[in-house]
Amino acid sequence: MLKIKPPDYKFCPFCGEKLQARVEEEQQRKFCPSCHWMYYPHVPSAVAAVIVRNGEVLMVKRGREPYRDTWMFPAGFIDFGEHPLDALSREVKEETGLKVDEATLVEISQTEDDPREPGHFCFFYRVTTSGGEIKTDEQENKAIAWFNLENPPEIGWKSHKHIMKQLQAGVD
Ligand SMILES: [Zn+2]
Repeated sequence: MLKIKPPDYKFCPFCGEKLQARVEEEQQRKFCPSCHWMYYPHVPSAVAAVIVRNGEVLMVKRGREPYRDTWMFPAGFIDFGEHPLDALSREVKEETGLKVDEATLVEISQTEDDPREPGHFCFFYRVTTSGGEIKTDEQENKAIAWFNLENPPEIGWKSHKHIMKQLQAGVD
């Protein structure tokens, strides 16, 4: 269980009434006495692609905070209503130019170190791809490159560091 706090909403997003506290299933909840909306805090999710070819792994260099200028597996948030596998294909296409052929879930991590969306889940997939030239979305990333598994670049996100260690150990 991560020690994270949900947004402390004061007013109902539907009718504007001041929210009240109520205990439900031993949890303190906020609810609206006017339209009866109950606030169930939740986190968003993301996907990340671990793409390995011939002992090399494909990574992108972040162009934005947090962890600007560090490297990561191609990844991104899942859009509202989107299935993780569809998000994976979309993100891989956007960030690498490659097409996802097969994807196998390797781990679901809870991201502790993202101040934008604390606690969000990241679904890591081992992915096989087709397509030739790699090309990244230059609005998001500064670079894209293949790295030998024995000599990876500097990684920022804790969860991506962990996955890299597993890859190097041949665990997944
Ligand atoms: Zn309301």
